[in-house]
Formats: sequence, structure tokens, C-alpha cells
Amino acid sequence: MTLVPAATQRDLSAEDLDRPIRSVLPELARGAGTFARLGIATPRQALFYLPFRYDDFSDLRPLGDLVVDEKQSARVRVTDLKVEPGFGRRPQRVIAQLADETGTAEAIWFGKRYVERRLEKGAEVVVSGKVTFRGWRPQFTSPDFSPVGHESIHTARVVPIYRLVGGVTQRRVRELLARVLDRTLPAVEDPLHPAERSELPALADALRAAHFPEEAADVPAALDRLAFDELLALQLSMAQAREARAGERAAEVVVDDEELGALLGALPFTLTGDQRRAVDEVIADLASSAPMRRLLQGDVGSGKTAVAAVALAAVVRAGWQGALMAPTEILARQHHLGLAPLLEALGVRSEFLSGSLGAAAKGRIHDAIAAGEAEVVIGTHAVIAEAVSFNRLALAVVDEQHRFGVAQRAALQAKGAGREPHLLALTATPIPRTLALTFYADMAISTIREMPPGRRAIRTEVRNRGSLPRIEAFLASEAAAGRQSFVVVPLVAESEALSAASAEAEFERLQATLPKLRIGLVHGQQRADTRDATMAAFATGELDLLVATTVVEVGIDVPNASVMLVEDADRFGLAQLHQLRGRVGRGEQQSFCILLTDAVDDRSRERLEVVRSSNDGFAIAEADLRLRGAGNVLGTRQSGLPPLRVASLFEPRHLVLVERAGTLARSLVAADPLLASRPALIRMRDDLASAEEEGDAA
Ligand code: ADP
Ligand code: MG
Repeated sequence: MTLVPAATQRDLSAEDLDRPIRSVLPELARGAGTFARLGIATPRQALFYLPFRYDDFSDLRPLGDLVVDEKQSARVRVTDLKVEPGFGRRPQRVIAQLADETGTAEAIWFGKRYVERRLEKGAEVVVSGKVTFRGWRPQFTSPDFSPVGHESIHTARVVPIYRLVGGVTQRRVRELLARVLDRTLPAVEDPLHPAERSELPALADALRAAHFPEEAADVPAALDRLAFDELLALQLSMAQAREARAGERAAEVVVDDEELGALLGALPFTLTGDQRRAVDEVIADLASSAPMRRLLQGDVGSGKTAVAAVALAAVVRAGWQGALMAPTEILARQHHLGLAPLLEALGVRSEFLSGSLGAAAKGRIHDAIAAGEAEVVIGTHAVIAEAVSFNRLALAVVDEQHRFGVAQRAALQAKGAGREPHLLALTATPIPRTLALTFYADMAISTIREMPPGRRAIRTEVRNRGSLPRIEAFLASEAAAGRQSFVVVPLVAESEALSAASAEAEFERLQATLPKLRIGLVHGQQRADTRDATMAAFATGELDLLVATTVVEVGIDVPNASVMLVEDADRFGLAQLHQLRGRVGRGEQQSFCILLTDAVDDRSRERLEVVRSSNDGFAIAEADLRLRGAGNVLGTRQSGLPPLRVASLFEPRHLVLVERAGTLARSLVAADPLLASRPALIRMRDDLASAEEEGDAA
């Protein structure tokens, strides 16, 4: 595929891959607009602009042997060509009659102007596309085509399909990328030594095969290689962070058995076995001068707060300070409500530090923290990071780990006054093993699976909209009995504005059908104080029903709420549905979760059945991971986790790669902590980090 005479071209160097594409490849100047629209500035970015799927048109058949609904190619003669002009909203149509020795077929294109220019009667072409049958006649709809005898990247082969943006065609992207590959692959250096990649292909080979595989069977190994690099980059940054922390010292908080026994005895309940195990793990970590990095995971209501309370109290009794941070003010306040009585029972004074406090009150608390009089501080991360200097902070508890960016974590850690605080992160999103290995390789994990005794299982039902009148009558009867309900509407097409509109519409509809009920509305387009006020009114029982977008997902605690109605439940992730369901069943009464859907396809049914039939957050998270992919489980966009472009954490082959990448990263960093001898690895690591920043900015 050499497209430009070699004499006019200079050989490219590895450095050229990261220079502006227009200066390195001036012959592609006419592609500048396309590259810009695709967000491609350098040859390297072009090389890593990977297809998201492939069409296999390598199956070249006589027309007489075409089969229905399959992707196929045929070598044909154009026997007739007709162009029907567009009219109003109807696009222009080009219809070609095709023939070979075995039969005839038709090809039709809608609004594709280039077809008319490139095709003429009598031409010999290879067409590639999906075949349907009109009566007995095969028809290609919008097939790709190229003249016979011209090697083509569009037809009769495995063809890459790229993500497009407006005004850019597959053909155009393919042609530009093919030329970039031709020119730049010789300059691609493999960051890995052959022994390190073992059976995986070399990087240049992997890139070529990922874009233009010789055959479909070449794709998996190519993608495995690219996935491995991505996972290795992630593991390298974690291994280096761990290495950099090796010298850090935390307070050694030693809690003897007697002291711990006294704390546990002062709690208003006996810890479950899982809670007790988690407490022991945390207490053991606290005694070490190596800073604790521990993730405590357990479903909503599994009793994580109690574990945190014991840890905070232990730290305070040993003469240190603790902090608990939550992502939002309302959550921070709820934590304070849950935690303060427990801490009080344990003889510890806590302060709530809120952004909405007056300057004087804030100043007083800041002083108390700096003087060491405030023993435990609870607030949002913003508030705590703001202007607080701790006297002797030894333990930071962080709620909803994956909503915290790396930067906030670092800001808090900087509060340790010479010592690193121990860090305990709480999460109600169970993290499957692959994810834990990938993203939390630097953290120890404690897990609470067992629920505190006396919980009534939530009854979950799947219903269609036809049942709405009965469901509404049920909401009314729950309200009459003094109980409360949530009605959650989904995010519409990822747009906050549209989902706010649909929440508003549902709010108005319910006000009309249930005029006796006191109904509130919260969504992401409201001012934070309006939203907080409505949430607070619901929490104190002044509202019977709360219509909400998924803003209620995170942690609002209303023990009196007995019904969670989720509309268009098929549009939610399974883990998210489970989280939503966790908003009810927090009190004595029988609680219900109603998943409303009109989806009838098997896949939607199967997904909802997983939630209906199981109350085990881990089983649901695993299923979600299997059915949707990792980014969706954790919401990598809002998580501060690097978005993985190639590696897929629900692909068992990639789990093996995760482990291999971890082992290799540790040995590379042990041998050369700064990776000074391996600049290509450093660049790979930093490329991933910059993708992370883009993810954060989004
Ligand atoms: P999480 O933080 O995991 O959502 P919480 O710690 O808020 O869960 O606990 C939920 C409720 O269960 C709280 O009211 C808490 O007091 C209660 N609880 C926690 N642990 C136990 C236990 N071992 N026995 C009885 N009740 C418990
Ligand atoms: Mg809690």
C-alpha cells in the first residue's frame, strides 16, 4: 500500500510520532480537517485511533451463492446505473444493477454523492456489504466498492469500522489511517523487550493488525497486545506510586485488645462477623508505620459506618485526630447524623464542618481542629481541604471512594502534618476481582457481605407501564399508612437537561393523579440549595413522594421510605439499580422495589431478572460487569479512574493480562524505580495519565 513515491519522503524517527501531524506528514495536508475533527493531532494519536469493530468482507462469493443477512463480497460488472435525485427530505438514490456468470444482484445507496462519481456502467468492481433479499434477488444496501485489480482497504477483506464524527466518512478515515500507518509504522519502537511481551506481537505488528488485519483471526492477538500495554501503563504508575510511598511514615496507632474490647462493648449493637473481621484488619493496619490504604466495601446498610466509627474512636483514644469526608454536603450531613451518636457512645467528640456555615462558626471549628480539640471532623472534601490544618491527623475516612478524584485524595493526605494519614475508603459499589486488581492494586480490601440481623428482605418486582394505575394506588396507600416512596426517572441520552425535563413531566403527572400526596422533585438542573432543601424535607417526612433523577443514588438515608419505583428500569446499570434499591428497606417495615419497564427483549428481561432475584451486591456487580463492561460499573468518567480504551475487564483473557502486567510492572519498578532507562515505558504511562485527565475534564 505505498501511496506516495518514496523519493519525496524522508524516513521518520520515533520523535516524529509525537509532532504535529501536518509537519510530519505534509502529504496528508488535505486530511487536516478530518484529523482535527477526530481529535487527532499527532501520528501517534492516529495510530491509536482504533476501530471499535470490524466487518469481515473476506468472504468473496459468486452472486449465485450469496446468502441472506451475511456480510459478503462479490466481484461483479455494473450492467446498469440509475441516479434518482433527492427530493425534499428524501435523499438522492443510486441504484446499480450487478452481474457475474452466476447471477445478478442490485446495489443501492442513499445520499452518497461519491458513488455517482466513482461508478459507471460497465465497470468491474468488488462490492462488500450486507446482503438482503428482495424477493429472489439479492440486494446490497450501501455497500463499499472498489475497482477490480486495485488492492482496496474497503472491500473483500476484514474492514475496520471507526467511530465517526459529523462530516467524516468511514472511507475517508480508513484511507487517511492507512497512509499514516504506511509512513509511520517503521518508526514505531516497541517499548517492551521481546522477552517481556513473550508471545504477544510486536507493537508495530499489533497496530497494523488492529487497523488492517490480514484475516479476522489476527485481531485478538493484536488487541491483546494493545490491552497489555494499557494495563501495564496503569500498573506502572501504581507500582511507582507505591515505591514513592515506601519512605512515608504514618502514625503508629496501637490499640490493645482490652481497649478494643471496651470500644466494641460501648457500641449499641454487636458487630457482625464480617464487620468484626474488617475492624481487626483496620486496627492491624493502624499499628504499622506504613500508611494504611484500605478499601472497605459492602452493600448499603451493611454497617460500614460502624466499622469506621470504631477505627476513628481508636485513633482518638490513642491521642490522634480523624476525619471523614463525603462527596456532597447532604451525604456529609447524613454521615454526621449516623456517626455522631456512635462516636458519642464511644466517648469521642465530632465536629461537622460545612460549606454553608457562617464565617465565624467555620473559624471557630478551624481553630478547634488546629488546636487538636476537635477529635473527629466530618464534612465534604472541599470543605476539609479548604483551609484546615490539623494538629495531628492520623486517619482519614473517605466515603464513596470512586467519586473521589486522585487530586482530592492527595489534598487530604497533605493534611497529615509530616505524617501521612492512614486512609480508609468506604464504598457501597462492590468491586469485582478484575477491577480490584486493576484499579486498586495499591489498596488492601475488606469486604462486608453479611447484613446486620433483623433486616427484612426487600421485595423486588418487574412490572410494565400498564400496571401504573395499580402501582399509583399502592403509593397512595403507603402514604396513607405514613410511609414514603421514591420515583426515579432515568438519565435521558446522557443529558441532564432532558432528564430534568422528564422528571418534571413525571412530577406534574403524579401531582395530577395523586392530588392528596405531598410530592417533591429533585434533579441535577436545580440549584444545589433547592435540591438539598427538598431532600431534607423528604428525609424529615414532610413529603410523601420524591420524584428524582439519579441524584438520590448516593446514600440518602430515609428509614421511613418503603417503596423505590424505578421507571424505564432497563435503561439503568444493574449495580445502579441495586444501589437505588438500597435506599429503601432501612427501617422496620416491609419495603418494595418496583422496576418498571416496557422492554420486551430477552436481554433486558435477563438483566432485570438478575436484580429481581438477587440481593447480593457482589453477584449483581459481577453480572453487570459481564453484561456491560467495566467503565459502566464504576462510571470511569466520573471516577477519576483512567478510561481503558482497549483492555476489557470482563474479558477473561484480559484478566490474565492484568496479572501479568502487574508482575512485570513490579519487577520493572523494583529494578529501576524511576524507569530512567526505559523512556518508552514512561511515555506509555504518561499517555494513559493524560487520557485520565481528559476523562476528568469531561
Ligand atoms: P452502611 O454505612 O454500610 O450503609 P450503616 O453503618 O449506616 O451501613 O448501617 C446501617 C444501619 O444498621 C445503621 O442504622 C446501623 O446503626 C445499623 N447497624 C450497623 N451494624 C449493625 C449490627 N452489627 N447490628 C445491628 N445493627 C447494625
Ligand atoms: Mg452509611
